[in-house]
Amino acid sequence: MTKTPLNPGDSPLVREALNSVVSRETPTAQLPTQTDTGQDSWPKPAKCRVIAVANQKGGVGKTTTSVNIAAALSMNGERVLVVDLDPQGNASTALATEHRGDIPDVYQVLVDDLPMADIVKQVPDMPNLYCAPATIDLAGAEIELVSLVAREARLRRALTAYDALDLDYIIIDCPPSLGLLTVNALVAADEVMIPIQCEYYALEGLGQLLRNVDLIKAHLNPTLRLSTIVLTMYDGRTRLASQVADEVRAHFGDTVLNTVIPRSVRLSEAPSYGQSVMTYDPGSSGAMAYMDAAREIAHRALV
Ligand code: ADP
Ligand code: MG
Repeated sequence: MTKTPLNPGDSPLVREALNSVVSRETPTAQLPTQTDTGQDSWPKPAKCRVIAVANQKGGVGKTTTSVNIAAALSMNGERVLVVDLDPQGNASTALATEHRGDIPDVYQVLVDDLPMADIVKQVPDMPNLYCAPATIDLAGAEIELVSLVAREARLRRALTAYDALDLDYIIIDCPPSLGLLTVNALVAADEVMIPIQCEYYALEGLGQLLRNVDLIKAHLNPTLRLSTIVLTMYDGRTRLASQVADEVRAHFGDTVLNTVIPRSVRLSEAPSYGQSVMTYDPGSSGAMAYMDAAREIAHRALV
Protein backbone atom coordinates (compact mmCIF):
# COMPACT_ATOMS: atom_id res chain seq x y z
CA MET A 1 0.00 0.00 0.00
CA THR A 2 1.36 3.39 -0.87
CA LYS A 3 1.70 5.79 1.98
CA THR A 4 0.13 9.16 1.43
CA PRO A 5 2.46 11.85 2.76
CA LEU A 6 0.94 14.24 5.23
CA ASN A 7 -0.31 17.38 3.65
CA PRO A 8 1.65 20.20 5.29
CA GLY A 9 -1.35 22.46 4.79
CA ASP A 10 -3.26 20.37 7.34
CA SER A 11 -0.91 21.25 10.16
CA PRO A 12 -2.16 23.93 12.53
CA LEU A 13 1.41 25.12 12.89
CA VAL A 14 1.80 25.61 9.19
CA ARG A 15 -1.61 27.28 9.00
CA GLU A 16 -0.67 29.60 11.82
CA ALA A 17 2.61 30.49 10.15
CA LEU A 18 0.98 31.07 6.82
CA ASN A 19 -2.15 32.87 8.06
CA SER A 20 -0.01 35.46 9.70
CA VAL A 21 1.53 36.26 6.36
CA VAL A 22 -1.35 35.83 3.94
CA SER A 23 -2.15 39.50 3.88
CA ARG A 24 1.44 40.64 3.56
CA GLU A 25 2.48 42.64 0.59
CA THR A 26 4.50 40.59 -1.80
CA PRO A 27 6.65 43.10 -3.62
CA THR A 28 6.69 42.47 -7.32
CA ALA A 29 10.06 41.16 -8.16
CA GLN A 30 11.45 41.42 -11.60
CA LEU A 31 12.55 38.08 -12.88
CA PRO A 32 15.48 37.66 -15.22
CA THR A 33 14.61 39.06 -18.59
CA GLN A 34 17.51 37.54 -20.39
CA THR A 35 19.45 34.35 -20.17
CA ASP A 36 23.05 35.17 -19.69
CA THR A 37 25.96 32.83 -19.98
CA GLY A 38 27.38 33.54 -16.58
CA GLN A 39 30.45 35.01 -18.24
CA ASP A 40 29.19 38.55 -18.68
CA SER A 41 29.03 40.86 -15.71
CA TRP A 42 25.70 40.96 -13.99
CA PRO A 43 23.90 44.25 -13.42
CA LYS A 44 25.38 46.16 -10.53
CA PRO A 45 22.94 47.60 -8.01
CA ALA A 46 22.75 51.39 -7.94
CA LYS A 47 23.76 51.25 -4.30
CA CYS A 48 25.12 48.49 -2.13
CA ARG A 49 22.38 45.95 -1.29
CA VAL A 50 22.57 44.76 2.30
CA ILE A 51 20.85 41.39 2.65
CA ALA A 52 20.28 39.62 5.99
CA VAL A 53 19.95 35.85 5.59
CA ALA A 54 17.74 34.94 8.51
CA ASN A 55 15.70 32.09 9.96
CA GLN A 56 15.79 31.26 13.64
CA LYS A 57 15.73 27.56 12.85
CA GLY A 58 19.16 25.99 12.68
CA GLY A 59 20.25 23.81 9.79
CA VAL A 60 17.92 25.27 7.16
CA GLY A 61 20.73 26.44 4.86
CA LYS A 62 21.41 30.02 5.98
CA THR A 63 25.17 29.69 5.92
CA THR A 64 25.27 27.53 2.79
CA THR A 65 23.04 30.07 1.04
CA SER A 66 25.00 33.11 2.27
CA VAL A 67 28.36 31.70 1.25
CA ASN A 68 27.39 30.31 -2.13
CA ILE A 69 25.21 33.22 -3.25
CA ALA A 70 28.05 35.55 -2.24
CA ALA A 71 30.63 33.47 -4.11
CA ALA A 72 28.44 33.25 -7.21
CA LEU A 73 27.82 37.01 -7.23
CA SER A 74 31.52 37.72 -6.79
CA MET A 75 32.47 35.41 -9.65
CA ASN A 76 30.23 37.51 -11.87
CA GLY A 77 31.90 40.79 -11.14
CA GLU A 78 29.99 41.92 -8.06
CA ARG A 79 32.00 43.04 -5.05
CA VAL A 80 30.64 41.17 -2.05
CA LEU A 81 31.22 41.16 1.70
CA VAL A 82 29.93 38.32 3.85
CA VAL A 83 29.41 39.32 7.48
CA ASP A 84 29.50 36.23 9.68
CA LEU A 85 27.10 36.96 12.52
CA ASP A 86 26.98 33.43 13.92
CA PRO A 87 29.37 32.65 16.81
CA GLN A 88 29.84 29.20 15.29
CA GLY A 89 31.76 30.91 12.49
CA ASN A 90 30.64 28.46 9.81
CA ALA A 91 30.61 31.09 7.07
CA SER A 92 34.15 32.14 8.05
CA THR A 93 35.26 28.49 7.82
CA ALA A 94 33.65 28.03 4.42
CA LEU A 95 35.40 31.18 3.19
CA ALA A 96 38.80 30.09 4.56
CA THR A 97 38.91 33.17 6.79
CA GLU A 98 40.76 32.67 10.06
CA HIS A 99 38.54 32.92 13.10
CA ARG A 100 40.55 31.71 16.07
CA GLY A 101 39.90 33.29 19.43
CA ASP A 102 42.58 35.99 19.12
CA ILE A 103 41.59 37.20 15.64
CA PRO A 104 39.71 40.51 15.68
CA ASP A 105 36.14 39.74 14.70
CA VAL A 106 32.58 41.00 14.46
CA TYR A 107 32.29 40.87 18.25
CA GLN A 108 34.86 43.65 18.56
CA VAL A 109 33.10 45.68 15.92
CA LEU A 110 29.76 45.37 17.72
CA VAL A 111 30.91 45.64 21.32
CA ASP A 112 34.25 47.49 21.24
CA ASP A 113 33.60 49.83 18.27
CA LEU A 114 36.49 48.43 16.25
CA PRO A 115 36.21 49.68 12.64
CA MET A 116 34.93 47.09 10.15
CA ALA A 117 38.07 47.71 8.07
CA ASP A 118 40.18 46.18 10.86
CA ILE A 119 38.51 42.79 10.62
CA VAL A 120 37.54 42.34 6.95
CA LYS A 121 39.72 39.90 5.01
CA GLN A 122 39.81 39.09 1.33
CA VAL A 123 38.77 35.50 0.67
CA PRO A 124 41.70 33.50 -0.76
CA ASP A 125 41.54 33.04 -4.56
CA MET A 126 38.26 35.01 -4.75
CA PRO A 127 39.26 38.55 -5.80
CA ASN A 128 35.84 40.20 -5.30
CA LEU A 129 34.83 38.39 -2.14
CA TYR A 130 35.47 39.54 1.42
CA CYS A 131 34.60 38.15 4.84
CA ALA A 132 34.11 39.74 8.24
CA PRO A 133 34.80 36.71 10.46
CA ALA A 134 33.09 35.58 13.66
CA THR A 135 34.93 33.88 16.49
CA ILE A 136 33.36 32.14 19.46
CA ASP A 137 33.69 35.49 21.31
CA LEU A 138 30.59 36.56 19.46
CA ALA A 139 28.57 34.21 21.66
CA GLY A 140 28.99 36.78 24.46
CA ALA A 141 27.68 39.62 22.35
CA GLU A 142 23.99 38.70 22.77
CA ILE A 143 24.34 39.51 26.46
CA GLU A 144 26.93 42.27 26.35
CA LEU A 145 25.02 44.23 23.75
CA VAL A 146 22.05 44.56 26.10
CA SER A 147 23.66 47.31 28.16
CA LEU A 148 25.19 49.24 25.25
CA VAL A 149 23.90 52.46 23.71
CA ALA A 150 22.02 51.93 20.42
CA ARG A 151 22.38 48.21 20.92
CA GLU A 152 20.18 47.33 17.95
CA ALA A 153 21.97 49.60 15.49
CA ARG A 154 25.62 48.81 16.11
CA LEU A 155 26.12 46.73 12.99
CA ARG A 156 24.35 49.34 10.87
CA ARG A 157 26.60 52.03 12.27
CA ALA A 158 29.72 49.99 11.58
CA LEU A 159 28.66 49.17 8.02
CA THR A 160 27.66 52.76 7.27
CA ALA A 161 31.08 53.95 8.37
CA TYR A 162 32.72 51.34 6.14
CA ASP A 163 32.87 52.20 2.47
CA ALA A 164 36.42 51.18 1.73
CA LEU A 165 35.64 48.44 -0.77
CA ASP A 166 33.04 49.98 -3.03
CA LEU A 167 30.81 47.00 -2.35
CA ASP A 168 27.80 45.90 -4.40
CA TYR A 169 26.44 43.45 -1.83
CA ILE A 170 26.78 42.84 1.88
CA ILE A 171 25.36 39.47 2.90
CA ILE A 172 24.83 38.91 6.61
CA ASP A 173 24.74 35.29 7.79
CA CYS A 174 22.52 35.32 10.90
CA PRO A 175 22.67 32.95 13.87
CA PRO A 176 19.80 30.53 14.54
CA SER A 177 17.97 32.82 16.98
CA LEU A 178 15.94 36.00 17.03
CA GLY A 179 18.16 37.69 19.60
CA LEU A 180 20.10 40.93 19.41
CA LEU A 181 22.54 39.65 16.78
CA THR A 182 19.73 38.94 14.34
CA VAL A 183 18.07 42.23 15.32
CA ASN A 184 21.34 44.01 14.47
CA ALA A 185 21.35 42.28 11.08
CA LEU A 186 17.74 43.27 10.37
CA VAL A 187 18.39 46.87 11.38
CA ALA A 188 21.49 47.03 9.17
CA ALA A 189 19.82 45.41 6.14
CA ASP A 190 17.67 46.66 3.28
CA GLU A 191 16.43 43.17 2.52
CA VAL A 192 15.72 39.92 4.32
CA MET A 193 16.33 36.62 2.59
CA ILE A 194 14.76 33.60 4.27
CA PRO A 195 15.95 30.12 3.38
CA ILE A 196 13.19 27.56 3.88
CA GLN A 197 14.02 23.90 4.02
CA CYS A 198 11.57 21.77 2.08
CA GLU A 199 10.62 19.66 5.10
CA TYR A 200 7.51 19.13 7.17
CA TYR A 201 8.38 21.47 10.04
CA ALA A 202 10.00 24.03 7.79
CA LEU A 203 7.36 26.70 8.31
CA GLU A 204 7.23 26.37 12.06
CA GLY A 205 8.35 29.65 13.59
CA LEU A 206 8.12 31.52 10.31
CA GLY A 207 5.24 33.63 11.60
CA GLN A 208 7.39 34.73 14.53
CA LEU A 209 10.27 35.68 12.27
CA LEU A 210 7.97 37.68 10.02
CA ARG A 211 6.39 39.45 12.99
CA ASN A 212 9.89 40.42 14.10
CA VAL A 213 10.65 41.76 10.65
CA ASP A 214 7.45 43.83 10.85
CA LEU A 215 8.34 45.13 14.31
CA ILE A 216 11.80 46.17 13.18
CA LYS A 217 10.30 47.77 10.12
CA ALA A 218 7.83 49.69 12.27
CA HIS A 219 10.29 50.90 14.89
CA LEU A 220 13.89 50.68 13.76
CA ASN A 221 14.30 50.26 9.99
CA PRO A 222 11.35 51.48 7.89
CA THR A 223 12.89 50.47 4.57
CA LEU A 224 13.47 46.82 5.50
CA ARG A 225 11.63 44.37 3.27
CA LEU A 226 11.32 40.65 2.80
CA SER A 227 12.79 40.45 -0.68
CA THR A 228 13.65 36.81 -1.15
CA ILE A 229 12.65 33.35 -0.07
CA VAL A 230 14.84 30.51 -1.22
CA LEU A 231 13.73 26.90 -1.00
CA THR A 232 16.62 24.71 0.11
CA MET A 233 17.47 21.01 0.42
CA TYR A 234 14.76 20.10 -2.06
CA ASP A 235 14.42 16.39 -2.63
CA GLY A 236 12.50 15.96 -5.86
CA ARG A 237 11.70 12.33 -5.04
CA THR A 238 9.40 13.21 -2.18
CA ARG A 239 5.91 14.55 -2.58
CA LEU A 240 6.26 16.37 0.70
CA ALA A 241 9.06 18.56 -0.67
CA SER A 242 6.96 19.67 -3.63
CA GLN A 243 3.92 20.22 -1.39
CA VAL A 244 5.93 22.47 0.92
CA ALA A 245 7.33 24.32 -2.11
CA ASP A 246 3.82 24.77 -3.56
CA GLU A 247 2.43 26.08 -0.25
CA VAL A 248 5.26 28.55 0.13
CA ARG A 249 4.83 29.77 -3.45
CA ALA A 250 1.05 30.07 -3.03
CA HIS A 251 1.53 32.41 -0.08
CA PHE A 252 4.66 34.34 -0.98
CA GLY A 253 4.35 34.57 -4.75
CA ASP A 254 7.22 36.25 -6.54
CA THR A 255 9.21 36.64 -3.36
CA VAL A 256 10.18 32.99 -3.78
CA LEU A 257 13.08 32.45 -6.17
CA ASN A 258 12.22 30.31 -9.19
CA THR A 259 15.40 28.40 -8.56
CA VAL A 260 15.12 25.68 -5.94
CA ILE A 261 18.29 24.43 -4.22
CA PRO A 262 18.44 20.62 -4.39
CA ARG A 263 19.96 18.35 -1.79
CA SER A 264 23.56 17.91 -2.88
CA VAL A 265 26.35 16.21 -0.99
CA ARG A 266 28.84 18.55 -2.66
CA LEU A 267 27.27 21.49 -0.82
CA SER A 268 27.96 19.90 2.53
CA GLU A 269 31.49 18.79 1.59
CA ALA A 270 32.76 22.14 0.30
CA PRO A 271 33.13 23.95 3.68
CA SER A 272 35.61 21.39 5.00
CA TYR A 273 37.89 22.38 2.11
CA GLY A 274 37.51 26.07 2.97
CA GLN A 275 35.66 26.64 -0.26
CA SER A 276 32.26 27.51 -1.58
CA VAL A 277 30.78 24.87 -3.81
CA MET A 278 31.24 27.32 -6.68
CA THR A 279 34.97 26.53 -6.75
CA TYR A 280 34.90 23.13 -5.05
CA ASP A 281 32.66 21.55 -7.70
CA PRO A 282 31.25 24.12 -10.13
CA GLY A 283 29.49 21.48 -12.21
CA SER A 284 27.56 19.97 -9.31
CA SER A 285 23.81 20.41 -9.06
CA GLY A 286 24.20 22.51 -5.91
CA ALA A 287 26.70 24.89 -7.52
CA MET A 288 24.57 25.33 -10.62
CA ALA A 289 21.47 25.98 -8.52
CA TYR A 290 23.20 28.62 -6.40
CA MET A 291 24.58 30.23 -9.58
CA ASP A 292 21.02 30.43 -10.95
CA ALA A 293 19.70 31.73 -7.62
CA ALA A 294 22.40 34.44 -7.51
CA ARG A 295 21.60 35.42 -11.09
CA GLU A 296 17.92 35.84 -10.18
CA ILE A 297 18.86 37.96 -7.17
CA ALA A 298 21.19 40.15 -9.24
CA HIS A 299 18.49 40.74 -11.86
CA ARG A 300 15.71 41.53 -9.43
CA ALA A 301 14.99 45.21 -9.37
CA LEU A 302 14.81 46.85 -6.00
CA VAL A 303 11.58 48.72 -5.50
P1 ADP B 1 22.16 27.01 8.90
O1 ADP B 1 23.20 28.03 8.61
O2 ADP B 1 20.77 27.50 8.65
O3 ADP B 1 22.30 26.41 10.26
P2 ADP B 1 23.64 25.34 7.06
O4 ADP B 1 23.79 26.12 5.81
O5 ADP B 1 24.81 25.29 7.98
O6 ADP B 1 22.35 25.83 7.85
O7 ADP B 1 23.19 23.88 6.65
C1 ADP B 1 23.01 22.86 7.63
C2 ADP B 1 23.70 21.59 7.18
O8 ADP B 1 23.08 21.11 5.99
C3 ADP B 1 25.15 21.78 6.86
O9 ADP B 1 25.86 20.62 7.21
C4 ADP B 1 25.17 21.97 5.35
O10 ADP B 1 26.40 21.56 4.78
C5 ADP B 1 24.03 21.07 4.92
N1 ADP B 1 23.35 21.57 3.73
C6 ADP B 1 22.87 22.82 3.51
N2 ADP B 1 22.25 22.89 2.33
C7 ADP B 1 22.33 21.66 1.76
C8 ADP B 1 21.88 21.09 0.53
N3 ADP B 1 21.18 21.82 -0.36
N4 ADP B 1 22.16 19.79 0.30
C9 ADP B 1 22.83 19.05 1.21
N5 ADP B 1 23.29 19.52 2.37
C10 ADP B 1 23.04 20.80 2.66
MG1 MG C 1 24.65 28.88 9.91
